[in-house]
Amino acid sequence: MSAAKPAAAPPRDESARERYEAVIGLEVHAQLKTESKIFCSCSTRFGAPPNTQVCPVCLGLPGVLPVLNERAVQFAVMTGLAVGAKIRGRSVFARKNYFYPDLPKGYQISQYDRPLCEGGEVEVLVDGERRRIGLVRIHLEEDAGKSLHPEGREGVATTRVDLNRAGVPLIEIVSQPDIRSGAEAVHYLTKLRQILVYLDVCDGNMEEGSLRCDANVSVRPRGARELGTKTEIKNVNSFRYVEKAIQFEISRQIGVVEGGGRVRQETLLWDSAKNVAEPMRSKEEAHDYRYFPEPDLLPLDLEPRWIESLREHLPELPDALRARLVGAHAIPEYDAEVLTETRALATYYEETAARSGQPKLASNWIMTEVNAIRNKTGQAIEEFPIRADRLGAMIGMIASGAISGKIAKQLFELMLTDPAAPDELVRKHGLAPIEDEEALRALAREVIAANAGPAAEFRAGKEKTFAFLVGQAMKQSRGRAHPEKLQDALRAVLKEER
Ligand SMILES: [Zn+2]
Repeated sequence: MSAAKPAAAPPRDESARERYEAVIGLEVHAQLKTESKIFCSCSTRFGAPPNTQVCPVCLGLPGVLPVLNERAVQFAVMTGLAVGAKIRGRSVFARKNYFYPDLPKGYQISQYDRPLCEGGEVEVLVDGERRRIGLVRIHLEEDAGKSLHPEGREGVATTRVDLNRAGVPLIEIVSQPDIRSGAEAVHYLTKLRQILVYLDVCDGNMEEGSLRCDANVSVRPRGARELGTKTEIKNVNSFRYVEKAIQFEISRQIGVVEGGGRVRQETLLWDSAKNVAEPMRSKEEAHDYRYFPEPDLLPLDLEPRWIESLREHLPELPDALRARLVGAHAIPEYDAEVLTETRALATYYEETAARSGQPKLASNWIMTEVNAIRNKTGQAIEEFPIRADRLGAMIGMIASGAISGKIAKQLFELMLTDPAAPDELVRKHGLAPIEDEEALRALAREVIAANAGPAAEFRAGKEKTFAFLVGQAMKQSRGRAHPEKLQDALRAVLKEER
């Protein structure tokens, strides 16, 4: 087998996979949610017509000087604090030199040997087990523009460049090679995205490129300490593709090694249409970026007091919120994990629990009924038609016995389209349980008359037919009859008519 072919078939032999361990590190670029760019006052709004949000600074015209956006620094420091990283009192911007059409200056302003944040970790829950993924660093940098390749006149390929994105602030979050599978990478990314969104420093929108991921992948025989040669998969822009691309690359590398070949260090691009990772350029030919300190910017010196005040004002983060929900409402860890998906969902849960006085029942309804509909419609909880106070009121009615669990499901359906209060809907649609003894006896007589055969069998001693009669009566009442009282009424009528 050739060592260079990246698209080699994955090994058929599943036991081969067992003999190897994958070592994966991720580099995540997150776009910071600032109004303006990192070194000029141009807008960062997504979706504007090409090249309408540019100025001499982000176009890289000669003679201009960058001015650092304080908000971008604040957001980067907040992220570092949230993951327990060390914040450098002095960090330094550096020029990363390379030529590309979407980079008008011919260099990117980034950070190199003295990044803003170092260390830290992200805790993830994988198959019920908590794992810590270490971080190497978080640094600030500017984004490049975007090359587009629209088809021109008479089908001729063209290349155009949109520089609206040039100079948009990014943080690059580099993990330790602590990740062992594609699935684990997805857990890590999900958690990282959750932290960024809770901090409100990034919108987490992968489709719009606010979060992009490169993966470094290598394999080694299980138990070995030495690292294998790694390849880098560039710019994978959805969680699903991250998992697929990593699994593909692990299988490919095992195939190469098992076939007696050697993995070549190279950069790959994930092709989501073909489900393969193909080489972009060989690392040997990769540019030497000739990093040097950015002469147009002073070193970034941060006041310890400023950092501390940011630390004090950090919002509640997912792990803390999860622990608080478990403690305050005595719900299982799993429930808390689901309910803290977003801060808004957690708030919705807490309001529902408070209104109903039923924390576990509230959690069950949100995790099953509410989330089932949201998964279908793609709605954020903020857009869900049943607000927390109405859901809480409905759950309160179940708990007090005002409605049965079965009726609650019907009521829930009605509440999706009718904004009325749940008790009003119960009245309007006649959903209240039938508890009146006379009404239940009348129902029982009706059902016994319609099922003379089974009724006679019951009277002859066949106790089993009773369940059948109960079922028929319940059906007749459209699930509204009070179960125990219905049984009492049926027995009474069967006896009196004997
Ligand atoms: Zn600009």
